[in-house]
Amino acid sequence: MTEQSPGLSNLLTENRTFPPSPEFAEQANADTSWYERAESDREAFWAEQAERLHWDTKWSQVLDWSGAPVAKWFVGGKLNVAYNCVDRHVESGHGDQVAIHWVGEPGDTRDLTYADLKNEVSKAANALTSLGVTAGDRVAIQLQMIPEAIVAMLACARIGALHSVVFGGFSPTALRQRVDDAAAKVVITSDGQYRRGKAAPMKANVDEALAGAESVEKVIVVRRTGDPETPMTEGRDVWWHDLVDEQSVEHTPEAFDAEHPLFILYTSGTTGKPKGILHTSGGYLTQVAYTHNVVFDHKPGEDVYWCTADIGWVTGHSYIVYGPLANRVTQVVYEGTPNTPHEGRHWEIIQKYKVSIYYTAPTLIRTFMKWGDDIPARYDLSSLRVLGSVGEPINPEAWIWYREHIGRGEIPVVDTWWQTETGAIMISPLPGVTATKPGSAQKPLPGISAIVVDDTGKEVPPGGGGYLVLDKPWPSMLRGIWGDDERFRETYWSRFADLGYYFAGDGAKYDDDGDIWLLGRVDDVMNVSGHRISTTEVESALVSHPTVAEAAVVGATDPTTGQGIVAFVILRGNAADGGEQAVQDLRNHVAKEIGPIAKPRQIMIVPELPKTRSGKIMRRLLRDIAENRQIGDVTTLADSSVMDLITQGLQTGK
Ligand code: ATP
Ligand code: MG
Repeated sequence: MTEQSPGLSNLLTENRTFPPSPEFAEQANADTSWYERAESDREAFWAEQAERLHWDTKWSQVLDWSGAPVAKWFVGGKLNVAYNCVDRHVESGHGDQVAIHWVGEPGDTRDLTYADLKNEVSKAANALTSLGVTAGDRVAIQLQMIPEAIVAMLACARIGALHSVVFGGFSPTALRQRVDDAAAKVVITSDGQYRRGKAAPMKANVDEALAGAESVEKVIVVRRTGDPETPMTEGRDVWWHDLVDEQSVEHTPEAFDAEHPLFILYTSGTTGKPKGILHTSGGYLTQVAYTHNVVFDHKPGEDVYWCTADIGWVTGHSYIVYGPLANRVTQVVYEGTPNTPHEGRHWEIIQKYKVSIYYTAPTLIRTFMKWGDDIPARYDLSSLRVLGSVGEPINPEAWIWYREHIGRGEIPVVDTWWQTETGAIMISPLPGVTATKPGSAQKPLPGISAIVVDDTGKEVPPGGGGYLVLDKPWPSMLRGIWGDDERFRETYWSRFADLGYYFAGDGAKYDDDGDIWLLGRVDDVMNVSGHRISTTEVESALVSHPTVAEAAVVGATDPTTGQGIVAFVILRGNAADGGEQAVQDLRNHVAKEIGPIAKPRQIMIVPELPKTRSGKIMRRLLRDIAENRQIGDVTTLADSSVMDLITQGLQTGK
């Protein structure tokens, strides 16, 4: 990235907008005045949002930014996060409300009311205490999407221990790195997990990971698959049902400081070695509760909400556990994959539980498109009233498909931009308030400030592109990288150090209305003959072609143009095979959609794309292929055989 390089070219245009219906606007939780109110007094606005929570001691100062870049929010305030997510709903007379409609992959189900949840969390908190876990200790949790995962997280929060949730599908090496990095005292896992109709062992992997792990004193094992072969280490391992079930349901939650650490969570590793992001209590819970309420227009006791993320990712933390439960949600939690036992599983669940708010990722939306429109068409999806997207830029064509085929062509779609580091949603339309635009996350939420700047940190004008920065502190911001203060300052705060901006690592542009479009990672931006071109725009142009299901684009070194655009494309099921002509058509299509400069030098038709376990495309691995290099770190790749599949196919010309 040279200092004199021009700003990111702004290529793709999108003119479709969808204003909210008057009926939706009428009942929406937020309205346009919120933006002005927040703008006129940001701290007063956040203080108002913090009133959503129960505080044992009220704060004396909203924000202390004197120790920047480490913020203190709600200074002097005290609260218990788990009490806020569970007990207070029981105390206000909603103990019988279902908190979780849990759906197991094999078809078993379990409903937990808030009263049930309170009992379970209290017992688990007592259990952890009985093992010697105290406030400030770290507990690693490697569990699939079962109620115990949520109970375990809340039990940690209740006693002030930090959880570090590790995705259930991670290898022993990945688990071990995370256990060691945080020096976890206890590990909570299960005997095994159901995946695509089969029971796979989990505990054996955990044992492999923990061999010689010095910090670990106890391992708690949830029985899920009933695998009789489950190895248990005498003195270290204990069954959840033996330990937790006998505990008392009485547990008095202690109030912790607003800045008491709540959890560590490792980023997904799209750009390199995962970072252990640290979040604290009061500001985090305030912002996740606020955003869950306004971005999804959530009505407690009326809506049925479903966020399809895994609790191993930040979306699961903020929008399955903390935000929704603080808001007294009734939600679906599903254990399995979307095509087990059939490709209509999600729609069947929505129909059964009358889900009204559905929040998922672009990668899954594109997969649904690939599977075909006829599948969702078989189900009654009329209960839905808000759709959300998170994780990657959503291509306009995928957005339109989502609205048409899942949202009956009439309900709001919110594209929510945020990161593990931001803790909560930062940029998103508000349903019932914003006229939405396919593919754009649009505006920072009330209370949030985000701008697009050039190399020097100067805000670009409407129509311009550059770097996305957060120029003002926000309540749920990370408080550091666990054990690595230098990396924290270097990664996020050094790029625009003089200005004190948080650098998110993403490229973005403003359209002529001043709406923000996310354009992918800055590391992925291509430089073709001096034009800086975003991967997202070229990918969206490819996906707008009727034969294309998914596309990933990278810049590869080119002797004449500096970088040449190389595209990897998955064709839709019904498309003819990718012959010479098909590839030519696609190149021309891109030239027509966004201009000749963006025409890919090379298009490779592939059967799969390399994705992280959270479903994001790992472009750096594709760049390795495009530049004929040794393939880099693949530890957070969802399926390690994908790279072989791609390279073999390319060698044989298929
Ligand atoms: P690592 O930082 O280890 O490379 P990661 O960035 O993939 O991992 P996450 O924190 O899970 O880990 O992902 C945040 C990133 O996801 C954002 O920086 C952005 O690139 C992308 N992202 C999330 N939501 C959106 C969205 N709505 N539009 C565009 N990009 C998004
Ligand atoms: Mg990141």
